[in-house]
Amino acid sequence: MTSGVRLILLGKQGSGKGTQAVRLADHYGIAHLSTGDLFRAAARAGTPSGLEAIEYMDRGELVPDDIVLKVVREQMRRGGLMDDGFVLDGFPRTLAQAEALEAELAAADRPLDVAIDLEVPTEIVLDRIAGRRVCEDCGTTYHLTMPPKVAGVCDVCGGTVSQRDDDTEASVMRRLELYHTATMPILDFYRGLGRLVEIDGMGSGDEVFDRVRTAVDGRLGG
Ligand SMILES: [Zn+2]
Repeated sequence: MTSGVRLILLGKQGSGKGTQAVRLADHYGIAHLSTGDLFRAAARAGTPSGLEAIEYMDRGELVPDDIVLKVVREQMRRGGLMDDGFVLDGFPRTLAQAEALEAELAAADRPLDVAIDLEVPTEIVLDRIAGRRVCEDCGTTYHLTMPPKVAGVCDVCGGTVSQRDDDTEASVMRRLELYHTATMPILDFYRGLGRLVEIDGMGSGDEVFDRVRTAVDGRLGG
């Protein structure tokens, strides 16, 4: 029986997780599943849970655990993804979701291969996000260390470059604390199952990807 690799990727906002998820999907030929993509796919397919999830998202609210789980389960079954392999990006977000995912995969006899935790120190992600400045018109991103040529004016379109309200240090710190509180039990859960690998997320995208790939291959070979 050949089947694709089943991975989840955990990491703070600003850890470079999204980039690494794309590279993992490409390297192993597996699907990259972000919860936003899954919700949109479910809504397009017209499933009740998908439509429900989109309603919460449109209201800017967190989608409740049971709905998230239904969507993830339906989309995985629909696409045959348990066989073909996947990297989940942004899920699970709670211990309850992690436990339910584990049970779902166990029931299908398609256990998770590796849970990857991308470790980047808080002060680094804080600097990455709180230093970020964004063009209000075209969305081009700058950083205090890489500002536009004229202060506050977008190089691309001439629009106003400013800091997003939710990128302030206080607001990023609050998100990081929430993330920490929710994620510690998830890491403990996968550690207890022997599925967790912790990867140093510092350095270039290539350096980090080499570490991730080596760790995953090590797990698969062992
Ligand atoms: Zn612009």
